[in-house]
Amino acid sequence: MLRNCHKCYQVFSTPGGEVCPSCQQKARDDFELVRAYLQGQPAAGIEELHRETGVPTEDILEFIRQGRLKSQSVQVHCQICRAPIPAGLACDECRKRLRRVPAGERVYSMEPSTGEKPRKL
Ligand SMILES: [Zn+2]
Ligand SMILES: [Zn+2]
Repeated sequence: MLRNCHKCYQVFSTPGGEVCPSCQQKARDDFELVRAYLQGQPAAGIEELHRETGVPTEDILEFIRQGRLKSQSVQVHCQICRAPIPAGLACDECRKRLRRVPAGERVYSMEPSTGEKPRKL
């Protein structure tokens, strides 16, 4: 089956993935870079992580949202009430209220802890 890569939009052949093999590899490399940097600098902020690893801030936030990475100073926020949460898209309270929202669905883009304005995707 042929489809367009979710990230680079190249056509590739896949049994079902959304991202082409080179983007998958890049995502793994990016993840390793950020993880390694956080090991040495556990309190690194999102801007520092981005500057030092070259990984886009959105991707770093995505790793944190997925619970794969933790930084002492980078927090993600509930997309509904904006309460700080350790990982994921919504706090427990909002998840309970919005049980019909499919898991992983993006409502708004996350607000980075740098105070950047939230953007609509
Ligand atoms: Zn790709
Ligand atoms: Zn909430």
